[in-house]
Amino acid sequence: MSILLKGGTVVSAHGRRQLDVRLSDGKIIEVGGNLLEEDSRVEDVTGRFLLPGFIDAHTHLELNNGPGTQGTADNFATGSRAAVAKGTTTVIDMATPDQGGTLQSCLATWNRLAENKSSCDYTYHMSVIDWHAGTADEIKAMFNQGITSFKMYLAYDNLRASDSELYEAMLVIKKYGGMLGVHCENGELVNEMIAKLVGEGKLTPYYHPLSRPNALEAEAVTRYLTIAKMAELPVNIVHLSTKEGLEAVRRARQAGQQVFVETCPQYLVLDDHLYDLPDFESAKYVCSPPLRSVADQEALWLGIQHNDIDTVSTDHCSFNFHGQKDLGKADFSKIPNGMPGVETRPELIYTYGVAKGRITLEKMVALLSENIARQFHLFPQKGVIQPGSDADIVVWDPNVQSVISHTTQLQNVDYTPYEGMATIGAPEKVYLRGIKVAENGQVLIEKQGKFVYRHTKNQPD
Ligand SMILES: [Zn+2]
Repeated sequence: MSILLKGGTVVSAHGRRQLDVRLSDGKIIEVGGNLLEEDSRVEDVTGRFLLPGFIDAHTHLELNNGPGTQGTADNFATGSRAAVAKGTTTVIDMATPDQGGTLQSCLATWNRLAENKSSCDYTYHMSVIDWHAGTADEIKAMFNQGITSFKMYLAYDNLRASDSELYEAMLVIKKYGGMLGVHCENGELVNEMIAKLVGEGKLTPYYHPLSRPNALEAEAVTRYLTIAKMAELPVNIVHLSTKEGLEAVRRARQAGQQVFVETCPQYLVLDDHLYDLPDFESAKYVCSPPLRSVADQEALWLGIQHNDIDTVSTDHCSFNFHGQKDLGKADFSKIPNGMPGVETRPELIYTYGVAKGRITLEKMVALLSENIARQFHLFPQKGVIQPGSDADIVVWDPNVQSVISHTTQLQNVDYTPYEGMATIGAPEKVYLRGIKVAENGQVLIEKQGKFVYRHTKNQPD
């Protein structure tokens, strides 16, 4: 039976109109004014916004090969449930091979983690962490299995690529029309800074941001974009966090280069004062890049307003405060890096962006859904409410007020970096391919997520 969402306002990245939406067999089949009931079941959504399901293009929902070989607090089941409860209907998770492992075995591992467990639709960015004679063919094989985006690192000893490896990978990705995202920090100099601080007995989390200064992000962004220019590949910068990094992007764009930029809620609503907290509390905020200054935060909001920043995703990577973060109690460099956030992104961006008048609701749709879908070969299947698209729809109530707390969150982790923050606006209902999977923040039906097969215009034969 089809469903008719009646009386709501459909919002896209470009505008809003009061329109009814009919869903059937997982798809949006009709969008128009005053649609007839016919044989549909009517859901009254008067006074609500209908937004395309949100896409989180940067999650580490389940990671078992992270620092200290300990797994994340969340896994695919708990992380995706928390995501969909608050309107994120698709995630692009970071698939990361083991040292020496193939991309193919990594893909198999990630499918095993997600299949029949995920409550939202999913695909992966395949991480390329080493380069050898067979890697180009391995990348080609990913395109043939629906994986069109890749991730590389300029930081972290176990993941980091050299400049020439980056260049070689870009040429292969370019050949098949794929997208590359890179973690931009100068890993060698980060190591140097950590060793210096630790050598001086500066061991508390207060020193974490001092080991990863703004300049090391800006340097890596500049180097990455220089290499991308040589390869003539449009590229993505993940979790951009600094004013200086953004300035490097502007320079490249002014010279005609195509660059995509992602930032994350933690860089927009939290700042580096949190590293001053006593009693190891500050360990909760140890992530890389670290939280930055209020000035950086303002630069990022301006960057969003001026279209310098294209997308907001979370870098969700959850470790418990008790039992995981505290492994670094005697040495900040041993604290597992990462913070939870897949659950809270929509409410935070609405509250701190739309409700505060920094951005329009249309802009929020662009940042959290449409731009991501377009960039990562998901559009128009995802990212828009129009006939033929998947019926992934968030019925958004702009008035509901709430307070973020670890006691009520669905993320399976013992804290939230946003504890006590008041929010306005929340999803009332969430549809995933036409199935009402969540209502008022509670998941109604779990594990409905499916792998999303992506294509590019230059698919290999
Ligand atoms: Zn990440």
